[in-house]
Amino acid sequence: MRYYSTNHISPVADFKEATIRGLAPDKGLYFPDHIPKLPATFVNNLDQYSKEEIACKVIAPYVGEVIPQNHLQQIVSETINFDFPLVNIEENISSLELFHGPTLAFKDIGARFMSRCLGYFVKDQDRKITVLVATSGDTGSAVANGFYDVPGVDVVILFPGGKVSSIQEAQLTTSGKNISTLEVDGTFDDCQEMVKTAFADKELAGKLFMTSANSINIARWLPQQFYYFFAYQQGKESSLPVFSVPSGNFGNISAGLLAYKSGLPVQHFIAACNANDVVPAYMTTGKYCPKKSVRTISNAMDVGDPSNFVRIQEMFKNETGLLGNLLSAFSISDAETIAAINDVYKKTSYLLDPHGAVGYVALKKYIQNNKSLRGVILETAHPVKFFDVIEPIIEASVKIPEVVQNLLRLKKQSTKMTTDFVRFKDYLLSR
Ligand SMILES: *Cc1c(COP(=O)(O)O)cnc(C)c1O
Repeated sequence: MRYYSTNHISPVADFKEATIRGLAPDKGLYFPDHIPKLPATFVNNLDQYSKEEIACKVIAPYVGEVIPQNHLQQIVSETINFDFPLVNIEENISSLELFHGPTLAFKDIGARFMSRCLGYFVKDQDRKITVLVATSGDTGSAVANGFYDVPGVDVVILFPGGKVSSIQEAQLTTSGKNISTLEVDGTFDDCQEMVKTAFADKELAGKLFMTSANSINIARWLPQQFYYFFAYQQGKESSLPVFSVPSGNFGNISAGLLAYKSGLPVQHFIAACNANDVVPAYMTTGKYCPKKSVRTISNAMDVGDPSNFVRIQEMFKNETGLLGNLLSAFSISDAETIAAINDVYKKTSYLLDPHGAVGYVALKKYIQNNKSLRGVILETAHPVKFFDVIEPIIEASVKIPEVVQNLLRLKKQSTKMTTDFVRFKDYLLSR
């Protein structure tokens, strides 16, 4: 498989080069030069395959020759060695729980896959690679966990200080070893901008061997297709699923659309956004206007200029009509999110996290005119990660698993940073 840049200036790259680079040199995102079509016999008989077999079949064409097949199999099986249950919460609505990995959020899958691929690729390099990552909360923890102690890899995480939950902060700042954390006096968008500027900086690029572990990296982006196959496998007897995807940077939902283009049967996709409504506005006006992000209780989706949206535009550039029929987008307020967490908990005792709750409200809005549709919410994080938000809403305490309690007792290790790029650059050069 070859990957081209969405800016069309940089030369094409294979999976290895695109993974190591993260962003193409012309600052475009890498995109596969064709979308593999899965055989109908495979898709129609998914229940006869194991998760590992499905995941390998889906990802292998994208990786190509650069990782031997038996090693890729091992990477895949380590990536997904936990459960992805589809749990019914009410009639025709179920939750695909993507939070059973080590950091309790769906980003574990992409981070585990990417760290193992990169670990394999740097084995034959003579210098350390520095992974730069901006996080609104969950990416950083998944990346810290996935890359912890991987030889040849140094990780620098930037997070917006005071804008992540206490569990997220503990996950971000307590690893040590090859993981360094910067607490930035700014927003997620500022962090993302600092990382982008670092990649564009000629002096840094000359002195450091850098890559990104944000969802723009194809090795994080592509394995997210697995979720949709696992959901389809578990609900195969019923009607086609409507997927409601809590969306921020649009990596997850664009991977779902890619799975659809490969032949996965899906009724409809819903981009469930919080008050950061750039894509919902685009879907009604046709104009894409990035904005400053605003703070919400679903903080991992506080993104004002979703990086991966260009991949959706790329996928449907010749079929804008099809995209209009396949994808809807909703912007959900914090008040609606809070009401949904409370209602669902009181009625069913199922506890949604704030991101899943945005997905729930958006799904309800979409299916209100067609009650026979079968909806699947992608539950992207364990509610305990947001216990500080959730406990006052349900007026009850959320049980904190022991692994998390232990984490909260560890010593915080992080460096304060302003949004001043010169300071950030000095920090990187002096490490
Ligand atoms: C990152 C994240 C999202 C948004 O996913 P994107 O792929 O950026 O759209 C949603 N929910 C949670 C819990 C997240 O961590």
